[in-house]
Amino acid sequence: MDFHHALFVDNDLCIGCTHCMTICPTQAIRVRNGKAIILANRCVDCGECYKACPVSAIGVEQDDLEMIFKYPVRVILIPSVLIGQFPRKIMTSGIYNALKDIGFTHIYEVENTVDMVLEAGKQYMHEHKIRPLISSYCPAIVRLIQVKYPSLVGNIMKVNPPIDMSAMYYREKLKSSGIPQDEIGLFYATPCAAKIAAVKSPVGEVESAVTGVININFLYNRILNYLQRKYTETEPPQTDDLLSSKGILWSLTRGELVHSNGRALAIDGIKNVNEFLENIENEKFDNIDFLELRACDESCAGGILISGNRFLTVERLKNRAAEYKARENDKTRKPLDGFLNLNEHGFLGNIEPRPMGKLDEDLSAALKKMERKRRLMCYLPGFDCAGCGAPDCQTLAEDIVQGDAQVSHCIFLQQQMTSQNLLSQEQAVRITGNIWGKERLEKNCNKLGAEDENN
Ligand code: SF4
Ligand code: SF4
Repeated sequence: MDFHHALFVDNDLCIGCTHCMTICPTQAIRVRNGKAIILANRCVDCGECYKACPVSAIGVEQDDLEMIFKYPVRVILIPSVLIGQFPRKIMTSGIYNALKDIGFTHIYEVENTVDMVLEAGKQYMHEHKIRPLISSYCPAIVRLIQVKYPSLVGNIMKVNPPIDMSAMYYREKLKSSGIPQDEIGLFYATPCAAKIAAVKSPVGEVESAVTGVININFLYNRILNYLQRKYTETEPPQTDDLLSSKGILWSLTRGELVHSNGRALAIDGIKNVNEFLENIENEKFDNIDFLELRACDESCAGGILISGNRFLTVERLKNRAAEYKARENDKTRKPLDGFLNLNEHGFLGNIEPRPMGKLDEDLSAALKKMERKRRLMCYLPGFDCAGCGAPDCQTLAEDIVQGDAQVSHCIFLQQQMTSQNLLSQEQAVRITGNIWGKERLEKNCNKLGAEDENN
């Protein structure tokens, strides 16, 4: 199955500024004809480009809300960070009522199955001796490892994350109450693009139990609108018999780590994770048993589709967890019904490496390309200026050996080639225009800091 991607560039808005290209952790963006393009085999849907774009030219797809009405039973699975975005004075019952008003018939919290995820994790650790084991919770991290650190794919803990576990659990539960499978639409409120991509092309699974994905920022605005019209603070708080304090904190940084045995580290932010994985791959760090790696700062509270401030979201969730903890101490929480079987539902299937740096399927051809790439690096200036439409000289060299770019794309080598009559001025102008767009080379006084001399 191909990688599905949830992010796209809106060509009408893109100004080819390269902000997205230079920040992308997998060098997945190039500029052509003055517009950014995302390379599908490299993108991990981390959303860094979305955050970096100054003109909101990068969008996140979502399923049409109308789609839910095709199903008589319309379930929304909400992650705890949806609740965490709202001020403390907003009772969870108000949020649940808003979701019912939008059209959902059943509302469940994603982290209700965390106990089972923990159980599967313990079993996996016991049965697999490879270290460090890396959490499979964040789909952007799983994809990052597949494409950029393929030698570490075996370290990914193949445990189903809470979203998949809960989707399977509630499907089984509703089915057991006599509802036909095709009448159940099970939707997930996602805080990030990577989780959309993971639902549409699951890693290590044949098919997701989730029917569709609704972006949290869209729901947040609809909920706010409802609360402004109908909310009264006298409503009692909504409680969920399956939710626990550990479930509420699971999606935050250290949410998984606190339950692991041995030496464990929690790292958030894709740049930090990238640096750390590089060291793990080069065997610079050892004696680590477990790594909780999350692509976003403050984990899911910092997801690109979260509207609330991530630090306040963390604060609210910690407060909510403390309230649930008090309830748990009263031993009132129900155990999960037996709709899931750990061995059947608890684990992911095979996760394949998908190395982005693989130069050729054929080994001898790959070696030749590697040699050519190294030779090219002797000539490219190493400024990583992005003037060629690639993020850095190494990436341009790779594009050249793959036939996707030419040496003359480098603006410095291009000058040398024209001075040595290897390239005409017209050819040079055409090449630059193909990368940056012809209009880019024309006078334009609308740019920041520009002023027309005729004014
Ligand atoms: S989502 Fe991440 S990996 Fe994909 S293009 Fe954007 S920054 Fe690069
Ligand atoms: S950040 Fe990327 S997508 Fe946004 S305007 Fe600049 S080049 Fe285009």
